[in-house]
Amino acid sequence: MEMEMRSMEDTEIATDMTPSLVPLTFSLHHSNLHTHCSSCFSLLPLSPIPITPFLYCSPPCSAAHPFLLHHPAVSHSSDLRAALLLLSHHRPSVTSSRVAGLLSNRHKLTCHNNSDEDEVSERISSGVRALATAITELRGELEPDDAVLEEAECALCAVLTNAVEVQDKEGRALGIAVYGPAFSWINHSCSPNACYRFILSPSSSSSSQESKLRIAPSSFRGSPDSRIDSGLCTITNHFQKVNWGYFSALEEEEQNQGYGPRLIVRSIKRIKKGQEITIAYTDLLQSKAMRQLDLWSKYRFICCCMRCSVVPFTYVDHALQDVVITICNFPKTSQEISVSGCDFTSSSSSYNLVRDTAERRLNDSVDDIISEYLMAGDPEPCCEKLEKILMQGLCDELDNVEETPHYKFMLHPLHYLSLNAYTTLASAYKVRASDILSTTSTIYQNQLEAFDMSRTSAAYSLLLATTAHHLFNSESSLIASLANFWTGAGESLLYLARSSEWSKFFKSSLVASSVSKVKCSKCSLMDTFRAYICNGKIRNDDFENASNEFLDCISHDSTQKVWSFLVNGCRFLRSIKDPMDSGWLVSTSNSRATDPGALAKKKSEVCYLHESGNSIQTCEEQTCNENARVHIFELGVHCLAYGGLLAAICYGHHSHLASYVEQILDDKNNLIL
Ligand SMILES: [Zn+2]
Ligand SMILES: [Zn+2]
Ligand SMILES: [Zn+2]
Repeated sequence: MEMEMRSMEDTEIATDMTPSLVPLTFSLHHSNLHTHCSSCFSLLPLSPIPITPFLYCSPPCSAAHPFLLHHPAVSHSSDLRAALLLLSHHRPSVTSSRVAGLLSNRHKLTCHNNSDEDEVSERISSGVRALATAITELRGELEPDDAVLEEAECALCAVLTNAVEVQDKEGRALGIAVYGPAFSWINHSCSPNACYRFILSPSSSSSSQESKLRIAPSSFRGSPDSRIDSGLCTITNHFQKVNWGYFSALEEEEQNQGYGPRLIVRSIKRIKKGQEITIAYTDLLQSKAMRQLDLWSKYRFICCCMRCSVVPFTYVDHALQDVVITICNFPKTSQEISVSGCDFTSSSSSYNLVRDTAERRLNDSVDDIISEYLMAGDPEPCCEKLEKILMQGLCDELDNVEETPHYKFMLHPLHYLSLNAYTTLASAYKVRASDILSTTSTIYQNQLEAFDMSRTSAAYSLLLATTAHHLFNSESSLIASLANFWTGAGESLLYLARSSEWSKFFKSSLVASSVSKVKCSKCSLMDTFRAYICNGKIRNDDFENASNEFLDCISHDSTQKVWSFLVNGCRFLRSIKDPMDSGWLVSTSNSRATDPGALAKKKSEVCYLHESGNSIQTCEEQTCNENARVHIFELGVHCLAYGGLLAAICYGHHSHLASYVEQILDDKNNLIL
């Protein structure tokens, strides 16, 4: 890519790299027009200010109204509305295909070589026609001419290329926004050193202690050596020389001060002066192939970041796409013979073919199950089907001739589909628990069942956090996902510990005080978290110490004690001895993707996952550890504090997630018995 932003100074982890940036253009998604402020995207108050067709939260926001254009021809699409707004303030340069200094990428987006790309370019050209109609009518002209069509294409493509999805605190998509070069010139990396967050509130509430701009473009088409060595001075000179770009955009931003959701860029790693700033344009917990596919379909580029170009794959990318393939020679009698390695070494291409089939089949199956659940909302079959795939894998159905070998495909526990499955299962079991309680909550058997569902849900949340943490050890840019996973695990463990069902099922002699202590005598995680929330300062070393202490504290025995209790109701989970013990995860050798012979090493693991459970024990049959509740509480508090710490690093110590965690930990009514 042509443009990039670099750090103007040495920067510690968790530093805001920009002040809050105001967008060049923005638009709520259609579905949120009646619930959220059309200017700042915050949730509307009870009596919003209506100025047809939009709704605003406050007078400062309704002042944005003359700035927001609307026209029926573009009312159905947030991309088109944003493009129309962009055009009203910026004339695209058709020769350079840029708008307000932003790359439109329009030649790449509108060229098509295959049917998939045809679809994109078809969508763009119908959008361009609608947009051109709107522009022409708003300008009081009759017919859109070629110049208008070209402007429209430039603007729409600039929106498609540069827009980011604006999300609320819970991560729901609200709409889109396009920011000036200070943000839009930041390139993608699959191992980025920065992330960003949104500020959704009327402009008047903007904080006075904002960060300065710590990033600047490197010289445009300049020699790469001079721009790094000469440091800050040259960078700012170049910054000012970029005549079509930045400062006019800044002025513009000042004029429209306060309109639209604002954004702040923040470091998630230590960054050296002159080092390029990168963010993620796609989900980093996908396999390399999936990331490349996503980036290509949205932005038409092939990622060449370090993580993508290293050969062989990084450990993380290896794990995220790891499929275990076994050969069953006699499927009819279901006698399974594990692969001996030499079956594949003879021909690497046949291995690749089988591997591709495995990847596709598993991907399709898991995707189908999850989207069926999301559409129909029935959690039970979803749980059954996902767990079946996690436990037994899939058989190669296409190959039904008896003499030829059949393949069986299993997901590695760190495969991105496995991670998706854990996420879905945690949510599906939670839904099942509340479904049961909402219908027949008075029947003992149902309460017991609901309790079982809750603990299985907590177990999946914990599994998701520990597996993702294992990946995070090799890829620290996964920190933002990890913040959510640990917080989620902490929340569901605490929920479980607080459940009033305990006294009914277990003869518990615990007193309330023993489970309401949120401070741990063995580690200082809680102090680090509170100090950070309080003064907003954390150094890289503090964070590393806190991470080590956290892992030490929860690894020793607390997870294991809790785990055997949590997984009691679930056959798949019972096959995992200890989610904190990376032993069950690291069985992948780094060379496996390129060394098919190494498949043989998998044999033990396959057997391990196949270990069939006995009939599921119920709570009563189990010798219940009276301390389980205390351990669950303690583990939950640790997970929550650690998740809060990670959230504060990624999104600031005043961020919603960090404050939310603080709130739960401080809750005086934390526990009831
Ligand atoms: Zn507002
Ligand atoms: Zn990459
Ligand atoms: Zn501790």
